[in-house]
Amino acid sequence: MQGVTGRFDFDAVVVGAGAVGLACGYALGRRGLSVGVLEAAGAVGGGVSSRNSQVIHAGFYYPTASRKAQLCVEGRRLLYAFLEAHNVAYDRCGKLVVATRTSEIPALEALARQAEANSVDEIDLISGRDAMELEPRLSAAAALWSHETGVFDSHGYMLALLGEIEDRGGVLALNTPFEGAQPLAGGGFSVRTGGQEPITITTARLVMAAGLCAQTVAGRIEGYPPELIPNAYFGKGSYFALQGQAPFSRLIYPIPAPGALGVHYTRDLGGRARFGPDLEFIEAPDYRVDPARAEGVYAEVRRIWRGLPDGALTPDQAGVRPKLHGPGEPQPDFRLDGPEVHGLDGLVALFGIESPGLTASLAIGEAVAEELL
Ligand SMILES: Cc1cc2nc3c(=O)[nH]c(=O)nc-3n(C[C@H](O)[C@H](O)[C@H](O)COP(=O)(O)OP(=O)(O)OC[C@H]3O[C@@H](n4cnc5c(N)ncnc54)[C@H](O)[C@@H]3O)c2cc1C
Repeated sequence: MQGVTGRFDFDAVVVGAGAVGLACGYALGRRGLSVGVLEAAGAVGGGVSSRNSQVIHAGFYYPTASRKAQLCVEGRRLLYAFLEAHNVAYDRCGKLVVATRTSEIPALEALARQAEANSVDEIDLISGRDAMELEPRLSAAAALWSHETGVFDSHGYMLALLGEIEDRGGVLALNTPFEGAQPLAGGGFSVRTGGQEPITITTARLVMAAGLCAQTVAGRIEGYPPELIPNAYFGKGSYFALQGQAPFSRLIYPIPAPGALGVHYTRDLGGRARFGPDLEFIEAPDYRVDPARAEGVYAEVRRIWRGLPDGALTPDQAGVRPKLHGPGEPQPDFRLDGPEVHGLDGLVALFGIESPGLTASLAIGEAVAEELL
């Protein structure tokens, strides 16, 4: 495949076929560029994008003017429109963030102010009584009702993105790990891949969207200043499935804890209810769910749902957040590091794309494409 200029094999190569890499490929392809997506695994979306809450966040948790706030709010609007246009299932079911004690109400009010500052619409601060009328099993002193929050079929979304890329002549190469890149004289990159049939290709632009491997892949780009590669931390989150009927129709979240949104209640599109994810810093990605962590989850859940029966929770899946901070440290913003950061023309390297990365993915793709064009 020839790039638009004919000088390179591709106008743009994206490393990583998770939701964010595919959204970058879609945004670049829509602008008329020939796109190649390299994925180390045998399928798309098997990384962080397959092990999460599948929640479309409204965007009120993040500091105003941060990338997380801007890209989440914009990404949510783009995402609902994309899902609708591509017949991908979603449910704009809404969510309640719950203060379980009056002492938590100021934190809820602060979230409501943050929502306003972040231009998040469709938010109501409601009394505990109103919240319990909406959700009779809930224990609440007050709640923030976000009407715009929803759940969706994230895998269907990624397949729709891939379809869009391929419809424009883009190429996905599975089982094709990125091994390294070298800037070319006069611009662009030579990219080496591994796997069974290693090849070298050239591209005018390069996007690194490797999720948990972001730091490793950036380290393999010749000339990338090592001191600009942030430290990688892994924040594991374990989920527990609820046996029996889903107790709530909306998603239920606690007041957020530092570093995570807190153990929350979600249900998928099939109505299957889960609680999680908790937060555990680990040395390397590991997806086993330790049944012993259920104890902490029971305690968290019973703050919002006193009626949770003993033995109702069973270990479900775990996901790992690509974090840029350690325990107790403030949570940094998403990093979309372009040439103004690292000095390499035609390259954007993404770091720390944890929550709300799924929600923000289309907006991240737009921002990356704008940066590279
Ligand atoms: C527990 C948990 C809950 C979450 N809940 C939500 C939520 O409800 N809503 C929300 O908006 N966000 C949520 N998130 C965040 C969201 O899941 C991520 O931000 C998003 O999925 C990141 O997508 P990605 O494409 O950057 O990474 P990934 O999906 O991990 O994709 C990266 C890809 O790069 C590939 N790769 C790695 N190295 C190489 C290489 N050398 N060569 C080629 N390919 C390579 C990997 O195989 C992988 O497929 C959650 C995250 C976690 C962990």
